Amino acid sequence: MAKFHSAKDANPAILSGKTLAIIGYGNQGRSQAINLRRAGHHVIVGNVEDDSFRQAKSDGFETFTMDHAAARADVILLLLPDEIAPEIYRRDIAPHLKAAKTLVFASGYNITYKFITPPADVDVVLVAPRMIGQGVLDLPARGEGFPVLVGVKQDASGNALARMLAIAQGIGAFMPHGAVVESSFEEETLVDLFSEHTWAGAMLFLLERAFKLLTEAGVSPEVALLELYASGELGEIGHAMAARGFWKQLKLHSHTSQFGQLTHGADFIGPNAEALMLKAIKEIRDGTFAKRWAGEQAAGSPTFNRLLGEVLESALAKAEDDLFAKLGR
Ligand code: NDP
Repeated sequence: MAKFHSAKDANPAILSGKTLAIIGYGNQGRSQAINLRRAGHHVIVGNVEDDSFRQAKSDGFETFTMDHAAARADVILLLLPDEIAPEIYRRDIAPHLKAAKTLVFASGYNITYKFITPPADVDVVLVAPRMIGQGVLDLPARGEGFPVLVGVKQDASGNALARMLAIAQGIGAFMPHGAVVESSFEEETLVDLFSEHTWAGAMLFLLERAFKLLTEAGVSPEVALLELYASGELGEIGHAMAARGFWKQLKLHSHTSQFGQLTHGADFIGPNAEALMLKAIKEIRDGTFAKRWAGEQAAGSPTFNRLLGEVLESALAKAEDDLFAKLGR
């Protein structure tokens, strides 16, 4: 069973007199910076000098290049895309990692696969929101929290756990409906990639296949898309799963719908499904996927660009453009 940290264990004073640098003022960076400042911490921002840099300045933050921010900070929150972070870490962050500084990650990826290997005399902690950046900003603003997964990888200062919990509190995770759940870099990486490599990707391709077959069966593209996802009902079902329960949300559907879902759904878990899930776990754990993705990027991402190009030009995507134009989206 996972340990849930209690708000009583969090002591914001552990960060008093410390400077927190948000490296990367993007989806997570902006939201976490604003929340941490509201919680009373001294927050600065490091970003390349572009629109996000100007946004940070206009939000009232002292804003620097990434290496200047890292040099000034005691606690460095590395909030960059995972595939970009190692290069920036080596160039701008590592030279400024003095003993007893704390490095905070929002994802386990780069530590799990050793794309980033911090020196032994700094703290390395995970504070990984299970929430998109906009939610990290909006929920605490209305008094609500969100779940975060946390874990200490290295405790050089003797205060890594306390600093990690203070960061989790500062971004809003202990507020009502939030939770600070003990995990690890490796576990966070596993569950995150597992979802992407199994049900999340499968759902997209299953819905696309459904669109193809429905339209071939004579359904108009507009009606098919609205039925499958474009009405927003899918998102509402997701909310209901989180709020009421995975199966209990079925009660929000008609009896006909519940009967249909319960009697047909499992048929789509073919003989291969479990083997594919186990293969995904193996390839995440043994680093096969991470190696493949690193190789893909080193080659200029040809497969990624081809596949993305194909889906963005697909019949579904074209029908969606038409529908969204009609809906004014
Ligand atoms: P973003 O895609 O929003 O990017 C963050 C920042 O990285 C931006 O400020 C961007 O700067 C900067 N950046 C991007 N490319 C470069 C580059 N080549 N050189 C220099 N700076 C660059 O990242 P997220 O906030 O989505 O993700 C940050 C971390 O949070 C990741 O570890 C992610 O896994 C994790 N996370 C993300 C969640 C999400 O919902 N997005 C949820 C939970 C965790 P600029 O804008 O100036 O280009």
